[in-house]
Amino acid sequence: MTARVSNLQEVSWLSGQRPFQFFGPCSAESPEQLRNTASGIKHHFSDVIFRAGIWKPRTRPNTFEGVGEEGLKWLIDIKNEFGFKVTTEVANAAHVEACLKAGIDILWIGARTTVNPFSVQAIADALEGADVPVFVKNPLNPDVSLWSGAVERLAKAGIDKIGAIHRGFHLADNKPYRNAPSWDLAVQFKTDHPEIPLICDVSHITGNPELIPHVAQRAFDLDMDGLMIETHIDPKNALSDAQQQVTPNQLKNLWDNLVFKSAESKNKEFQSQLEILRSKIDRIDESIVELLAQRMNISEEIGLYKKKNQVTILQLQRWQEILDRAIKSGKALDLSEPFISAIYNTIHEESIDRQTNS
Ligand code: PEP
Ligand code: MN
Repeated sequence: MTARVSNLQEVSWLSGQRPFQFFGPCSAESPEQLRNTASGIKHHFSDVIFRAGIWKPRTRPNTFEGVGEEGLKWLIDIKNEFGFKVTTEVANAAHVEACLKAGIDILWIGARTTVNPFSVQAIADALEGADVPVFVKNPLNPDVSLWSGAVERLAKAGIDKIGAIHRGFHLADNKPYRNAPSWDLAVQFKTDHPEIPLICDVSHITGNPELIPHVAQRAFDLDMDGLMIETHIDPKNALSDAQQQVTPNQLKNLWDNLVFKSAESKNKEFQSQLEILRSKIDRIDESIVELLAQRMNISEEIGLYKKKNQVTILQLQRWQEILDRAIKSGKALDLSEPFISAIYNTIHEESIDRQTNS
């Protein structure tokens, strides 16, 4: 694991500046719908990567499953008329071949495909020798290694322009979102792959335009490199994901209210204040580690006594007392119960290990 979270200032293979703008409808529906949407977007933005699904993975049959291959030509028309790069989802080798032949600029692998290593491998095989950027959405289930696995399969096939899309995870309880953002998993992916641009698909996370501003700002605060926002000229009549798409004008308003942040600042006062605070944190961290080591040494000593006197290592009542006391002191100092409880559970587990091995 790489310890550093990078702040990619630019990505040489993606045109335009961070933050990258992946805008466009959930699905391509007709040449007019694509054209009117692209024209509305072009009115406000110039450097867009225009998205539209051609083959749509729908949960139930007998719903709109995409226009299929003929939509690729419509996308190329958008590219030629508006100067946008165009991108669509591929779910199998035939999709890849059709997109490469048509000249689609960027491909993405959807969440329902990332879960299946067979499908990802078939796509990777079809991509061998191609020089096309591919973005990988996180899998539906909260499993970062499956996400990384898909990236590794592409890299092994020689794809060197790889991006990632955080689109939220399907948990037992996703409320109030359509898909839970589980930000910690996105941060884990970013930490493991600092060189891969990571954008946030706020539409599929929220499922609802009202929640987009808050989620989009959170993505920027976590140093993500761009946003995917489903945009439709007439959202309420969209053939898929009607409830979550925004109009080009709503998109403009939303974008203007976001603050895109950089991981660094040239402001000298900010830099020196940050340095002072960071050195305080570094000193505290040293003390924390030292105290943990002292605590574990005492645990080992206790372990030896317990062994000699044939007493069990786990003593539930004592453990409960320790946890209750820590939670109570934590609360008095504004530290939340889940936070203290998570830390103490980890300490207790290590302590049991030490006593077992002492
Ligand atoms: C989409 O982008 O329209 C889509 C189907 O997304 P996901 O794979 O994230 O569900
Ligand atoms: Mn969609």
